[in-house]
Amino acid sequence: MPNDCIFCQIVAGDIPSKTVYEDDSVLAFLDVNPLAPGHTLVITKDHYETLGDLPEDTAMDLFSALHELTPAVETAVDADASNVAFNNGEASGQEVPHIHGHIIPRFEDDGGKPIHAVAGDRPELSDDELDEIAADISGSQ
Ligand code: 5GP
Ligand code: ZN
Repeated sequence: MPNDCIFCQIVAGDIPSKTVYEDDSVLAFLDVNPLAPGHTLVITKDHYETLGDLPEDTAMDLFSALHELTPAVETAVDADASNVAFNNGEASGQEVPHIHGHIIPRFEDDGGKPIHAVAGDRPELSDDELDEIAADISGSQ
């Protein structure tokens, strides 16, 4: 574990957190600077930076916890919906380089935006370019 990783220090118990869920490979706790009441971070206990770095079994553990926790968080704060998202890599806005999913409760008329609002200028892509991208993605797995 990198000594300076805040989330590794939370896993180790060296930094306190408001824990809402824990199993062998996953920990979830309230975000210290919440975007909404109930804003929860779901992390792997082992240090990985991005989704692509995760071993498959850990990825499944992480998604399973998100699956269980998302409705629990919504119910706890009486939310109407939620955004569940990862900042995946520095250029996407990831500030803590230890993988974490955000569960952000959403409320009617909360003034927030959909996930589409996170990206920059929209590209103009031809049908051929879309075909090429789709082929590159399906060929790279
Ligand atoms: P990122 O931008 O990396 O996706 O989000 C990092 C999140 O971690 C931010 O929402 C921030 O408020 C939260 N955070 C940073 N440091 C701490 C901490 O020490 N404790 C908790 N509970 N949350 C933290
Ligand atoms: Zn870490």
